[in-house]
Amino acid sequence: MLVIDDDRVSLEPAGDHWGQTISHAERALRARYGPNAEALLIGPAGEWGAPMAGVFNRERTAGRGGAGAVLGSKNLKAIVARGSGGVHIYDPEGYAEGLKLALRALRMSSPIERLGKHGSANILELINVAGALPTRNFQAGQFEEADELTGEQWRAAVWAQDLACWGCPIHCSKLAKRGDWTLDGPDYETIYAVGTSCGVDDKWAIVEANHICDEYGFDTISAGNTVGFVMELYQRGYVTAADLDGVEATWGSAHALLTLLRKMGAGEGVGRQLAMGTRALSRQYPRQRGLRDAGQGPGDARLPPQRGEGGSRWPTPSPSAARATCTARRWWSCSAGPTP
Ligand code: SF4
Repeated sequence: MLVIDDDRVSLEPAGDHWGQTISHAERALRARYGPNAEALLIGPAGEWGAPMAGVFNRERTAGRGGAGAVLGSKNLKAIVARGSGGVHIYDPEGYAEGLKLALRALRMSSPIERLGKHGSANILELINVAGALPTRNFQAGQFEEADELTGEQWRAAVWAQDLACWGCPIHCSKLAKRGDWTLDGPDYETIYAVGTSCGVDDKWAIVEANHICDEYGFDTISAGNTVGFVMELYQRGYVTAADLDGVEATWGSAHALLTLLRKMGAGEGVGRQLAMGTRALSRQYPRQRGLRDAGQGPGDARLPPQRGEGGSRWPTPSPSAARATCTARRWWSCSAGPTP
């Protein structure tokens, strides 16, 4: 582990932390370095080098692009930072004035109000109506059970608490509670990737799939799209349960979704092959055999969450982004209509 303690930097053995899941390792690191320490860390998926592994801190993930596999390849479990200094603000009065204006603008925005109330899932209904909701590995753009997965439905049936990044008044993230367990999310991208793209409409199965990815430390978009891709392979008879360690990968099967995700995270059995992602898999099952590979993006990343044919603005911007399939940095190919 790389430990940064004010201006002292050292490498320390990861010891028992190697092999721990994300939440387990975070708790252990905080116990070891104190409550003010923060860590960027990887889970078992990053340790064994899954290309879809991310880097995690609390409920946030640097996903896509496989940064977790980069840390894993260097045997680096975590970067731990602890400091005693403060943050110097050059112009405290100007900062306070700017903050006041920004907060006022946020309070007056109805889309922001929806985002706070129904999370990023608030866009699912709109995307479904537009025919752009990835469904069964992008074979369709509308999901029959989409009404069950809207932000209103999640809030009514699953979410028990709102969560915000530090200092953010929007609190778009949500927590689900089941018994003694508090589970994260999910957000829109996860709902589509492990949900509609796999034909799964069971909200708790989607929450559990999100949890598996968060604990093993890999990206829900890449992982969910890969399972959707495998389900299409299964649908078309290119693979059978015998190829998938006995898993019947039928559309909508929560059991298949959760089992395959666990195997991918642990790098166990067929999971080690599946965690290579859709591009590697699609090379074995070429397009001319009838298989759609729409879940596959450039640079070995899985496409982000809008099916191209349903939204005139979606087909090229994300795949043509400087960082493959990035939704944060991309160039729009046409100008009509607001960004959903
Ligand atoms: S800063 Fe965090 S809580 Fe605020 S809108 Fe962005 S993701 Fe949501």
